Amino acid sequence: MELTAGDHRIPLSDGNSIPIIGFGTYQDSKLTPKGSCRAGVKFAIDVGYRHIDGAYSSENEDEVGEAIREKIAEGWVKREDIFYCGKLWGTDFDPKRVLPRLQKTLQDLQLDYVDLYIMETPMAFKPGEEIFPTDENGNRRVHKTNLCATWEVECHPYFTQRKLLEFCQQHDILMVAFTPLGISKDRDWMSTYFQPLLEDELLNSLGKKYKKTAAQVALRFNIQRGIVVIPKSFDPKMIKENFQIFDFSLTTEEMKTIETLNRDVRLLDLLKWSGHPEYPFHEEY
Ligand code: NDP
Repeated sequence: MELTAGDHRIPLSDGNSIPIIGFGTYQDSKLTPKGSCRAGVKFAIDVGYRHIDGAYSSENEDEVGEAIREKIAEGWVKREDIFYCGKLWGTDFDPKRVLPRLQKTLQDLQLDYVDLYIMETPMAFKPGEEIFPTDENGNRRVHKTNLCATWEVECHPYFTQRKLLEFCQQHDILMVAFTPLGISKDRDWMSTYFQPLLEDELLNSLGKKYKKTAAQVALRFNIQRGIVVIPKSFDPKMIKENFQIFDFSLTTEEMKTIETLNRDVRLLDLLKWSGHPEYPFHEEY
């Protein structure tokens, strides 16, 4: 299937389809000026993104919803053109909290439905309104659930997830890669430092060959493997750049060479929660 900027949806087995590039909206609300998310989402829709990746925990779904509704009101898109992914945070895994939290998300967005609703964290936290519940000593408060869960998958050239991808492909499961540029500013989620992916020599030299940036090569690598990517930036230049990945193609040889960059090390290892009874990353997958 030829993916283009105008048509890059992947069919799903239930008859729906998901655009292979999504617009990431995670932000640290303390550091992000009010309105940047709304402006970013509007610009992204102008550029051609039709898949928006949001979350209750990012505390900006009101701005995301406002942007989508404004673009609909302008006649630029219809609601059905947009694929919105919302997320259930770890404090709401208790079954009786799921529906009210989804309703809160819809209320913040002021939309009638989300296209996908997934569990954001692979472990549960103490139920309540606090996003990062802590006890009086500052320790994270965890919660045990009966979790037979699925979660989104970090995936980029330094963490290619080859085995997981093979498993998903065998079982007709589509993978979505978060942190596809291998950048996370959120030190809370990571303990390992490795060379920033976008400074990688190979990605930069391939970028030079195709007149693209290392970021575009990293995103193209994943979409050529059939993996949905959801890079985040509210900077118009980068929003555009991250979408311009449909006008070049990496050769089979180049794809194989990028695969060799894999280090099997997670950037977002959530090690702070490694004592959690459901901490999943001790396992191979
Ligand atoms: P990304 O890999 O998307 O990197 C984001 C960072 O890269 C930002 O600092 C951004 O800068 C910078 N950037 C964006 N585009 C470029 C570019 N072309 N060149 C150079 N730098 C660039 O990481 P995220 O962790 O934000 O992941 C993307 C999205 O995935 C999130 O926004 C969220 O929607 C989702 N996510 C979901 C998770 C889950 O469900 N468990 C966990 C983590 C992420 P700036 O912001 O300054 O513009």
